[in-house]
Amino acid sequence: MDGEQHAQVVAHTPALRATLALACNILAMEGHTDISLGHASAREPRAVVYWVKASGFGLEEVTPDDTILVDFDGKKLQGDRPAHRELPIHAEIYRRRPDVNSVVHTHPLYATALCATPRRGPERPSPDRYVVSRSNSLQV
Ligand SMILES: [Zn+2]
Repeated sequence: MDGEQHAQVVAHTPALRATLALACNILAMEGHTDISLGHASAREPRAVVYWVKASGFGLEEVTPDDTILVDFDGKKLQGDRPAHRELPIHAEIYRRRPDVNSVVHTHPLYATALCATPRRGPERPSPDRYVVSRSNSLQV
Protein backbone atom coordinates (compact mmCIF):
# COMPACT_ATOMS: atom_id res chain seq x y z
CA MET A 1 0.00 0.00 0.00
CA ASP A 2 1.52 3.32 -0.99
CA GLY A 3 1.23 6.51 1.03
CA GLU A 4 -1.49 8.00 -1.16
CA GLN A 5 -3.64 4.87 -0.91
CA HIS A 6 -3.19 4.76 2.86
CA ALA A 7 -4.08 8.45 3.19
CA GLN A 8 -7.19 7.90 1.07
CA VAL A 9 -8.32 4.97 3.23
CA VAL A 10 -7.75 6.83 6.47
CA ALA A 11 -9.45 9.98 5.14
CA HIS A 12 -12.66 8.09 4.49
CA THR A 13 -12.80 6.13 7.70
CA PRO A 14 -14.70 8.12 10.38
CA ALA A 15 -18.10 7.18 9.00
CA LEU A 16 -16.97 3.64 8.24
CA ARG A 17 -15.63 3.17 11.77
CA ALA A 18 -18.86 4.54 13.24
CA THR A 19 -20.92 2.19 11.07
CA LEU A 20 -18.71 -0.75 12.01
CA ALA A 21 -19.07 0.03 15.72
CA LEU A 22 -22.83 0.34 15.34
CA ALA A 23 -22.96 -2.97 13.46
CA CYS A 24 -21.11 -4.63 16.34
CA ASN A 25 -23.59 -3.15 18.84
CA ILE A 26 -26.54 -4.38 16.76
CA LEU A 27 -25.01 -7.86 16.49
CA ALA A 28 -24.80 -7.94 20.29
CA MET A 29 -28.45 -6.87 20.62
CA GLU A 30 -29.40 -9.67 18.23
CA GLY A 31 -27.72 -12.33 20.38
CA HIS A 32 -24.36 -12.65 18.66
CA THR A 33 -22.30 -11.67 21.66
CA ASP A 34 -20.13 -14.31 23.34
CA ILE A 35 -18.19 -12.46 26.04
CA SER A 36 -15.32 -11.00 24.02
CA LEU A 37 -15.47 -13.39 21.07
CA GLY A 38 -16.79 -12.41 17.69
CA HIS A 39 -15.79 -9.57 15.45
CA ALA A 40 -16.84 -7.63 12.40
CA SER A 41 -14.81 -5.73 9.86
CA ALA A 42 -15.39 -3.29 7.04
CA ARG A 43 -13.35 -1.66 4.32
CA GLU A 44 -13.72 1.00 1.72
CA PRO A 45 -14.47 -0.57 -1.68
CA ARG A 46 -11.42 -2.45 -2.97
CA ALA A 47 -9.16 -1.16 -0.18
CA VAL A 48 -6.27 -3.44 0.76
CA VAL A 49 -6.71 -2.58 4.42
CA TYR A 50 -9.74 -2.91 6.66
CA TRP A 51 -11.10 -1.82 10.01
CA VAL A 52 -11.95 -4.55 12.50
CA LYS A 53 -13.21 -4.74 16.07
CA ALA A 54 -10.25 -5.03 18.41
CA SER A 55 -9.88 -7.88 20.91
CA GLY A 56 -10.63 -7.92 24.64
CA PHE A 57 -14.22 -6.69 24.97
CA GLY A 58 -17.73 -7.51 23.83
CA LEU A 59 -19.56 -6.52 20.68
CA GLU A 60 -21.94 -4.46 22.82
CA GLU A 61 -19.08 -2.28 24.05
CA VAL A 62 -17.58 -1.30 20.70
CA THR A 63 -17.14 2.37 19.86
CA PRO A 64 -15.37 3.72 16.77
CA ASP A 65 -12.19 4.09 18.85
CA ASP A 66 -12.27 0.34 19.54
CA THR A 67 -11.64 -0.51 15.90
CA ILE A 68 -8.19 -1.01 14.43
CA LEU A 69 -6.88 -0.67 10.89
CA VAL A 70 -4.99 -3.72 9.63
CA ASP A 71 -3.60 -4.93 6.32
CA PHE A 72 -4.13 -8.35 4.75
CA ASP A 73 -1.04 -9.69 6.52
CA GLY A 74 -2.49 -8.78 9.90
CA LYS A 75 -0.18 -5.82 10.47
CA LYS A 76 -1.85 -3.18 12.64
CA LEU A 77 -1.62 0.21 10.97
CA GLN A 78 -3.76 2.31 13.30
CA GLY A 79 -5.41 1.92 16.68
CA ASP A 80 -4.27 1.16 20.21
CA ARG A 81 -6.18 -2.02 21.00
CA PRO A 82 -4.94 -5.59 20.42
CA ALA A 83 -6.04 -7.57 17.37
CA HIS A 84 -8.06 -10.79 17.38
CA ARG A 85 -6.12 -13.89 16.36
CA GLU A 86 -8.74 -14.66 13.71
CA LEU A 87 -7.81 -11.80 11.36
CA PRO A 88 -6.96 -14.25 8.52
CA ILE A 89 -10.70 -14.99 8.25
CA HIS A 90 -11.32 -11.40 7.21
CA ALA A 91 -8.16 -10.98 5.15
CA GLU A 92 -8.67 -14.09 3.04
CA ILE A 93 -12.28 -13.23 2.26
CA TYR A 94 -11.33 -9.68 1.25
CA ARG A 95 -8.41 -10.97 -0.79
CA ARG A 96 -10.54 -13.47 -2.69
CA ARG A 97 -13.73 -11.42 -2.94
CA PRO A 98 -13.06 -7.83 -4.08
CA ASP A 99 -16.83 -7.28 -4.13
CA VAL A 100 -17.14 -7.91 -0.36
CA ASN A 101 -16.69 -4.92 1.92
CA SER A 102 -17.76 -6.34 5.28
CA VAL A 103 -17.16 -9.60 7.12
CA VAL A 104 -18.84 -10.79 10.32
CA HIS A 105 -17.68 -13.70 12.46
CA THR A 106 -19.69 -14.37 15.61
CA HIS A 107 -20.59 -17.20 17.96
CA PRO A 108 -24.36 -16.83 18.39
CA LEU A 109 -25.74 -18.95 21.24
CA TYR A 110 -28.15 -21.18 19.32
CA ALA A 111 -25.79 -21.81 16.38
CA THR A 112 -23.01 -22.67 18.80
CA ALA A 113 -25.34 -25.01 20.72
CA LEU A 114 -26.44 -26.67 17.46
CA CYS A 115 -22.85 -27.25 16.46
CA ALA A 116 -22.14 -28.86 19.83
CA THR A 117 -24.90 -31.47 19.45
CA PRO A 118 -24.24 -34.94 18.06
CA ARG A 119 -25.52 -35.27 14.53
CA ARG A 120 -25.60 -38.02 11.98
CA GLY A 121 -24.33 -37.50 8.49
CA PRO A 122 -21.09 -36.80 6.73
CA GLU A 123 -21.04 -33.12 7.46
CA ARG A 124 -21.52 -31.37 10.75
CA PRO A 125 -22.15 -27.63 11.00
CA SER A 126 -19.34 -25.60 12.45
CA PRO A 127 -19.50 -22.26 14.22
CA ASP A 128 -16.69 -21.21 11.93
CA ARG A 129 -18.64 -21.81 8.72
CA TYR A 130 -19.38 -18.82 6.56
CA VAL A 131 -22.13 -18.15 4.11
CA VAL A 132 -22.22 -15.42 1.52
CA SER A 133 -25.70 -13.95 1.55
CA ARG A 134 -27.45 -12.36 -1.37
CA SER A 135 -26.50 -8.93 -0.08
CA ASN A 136 -22.82 -9.93 -0.30
CA SER A 137 -22.41 -9.68 3.43
CA LEU A 138 -20.93 -12.71 5.11
CA GLN A 139 -22.68 -14.52 7.93
CA VAL A 140 -21.83 -17.43 10.18
ZN1 LIG B 1 -14.46 -17.45 16.36
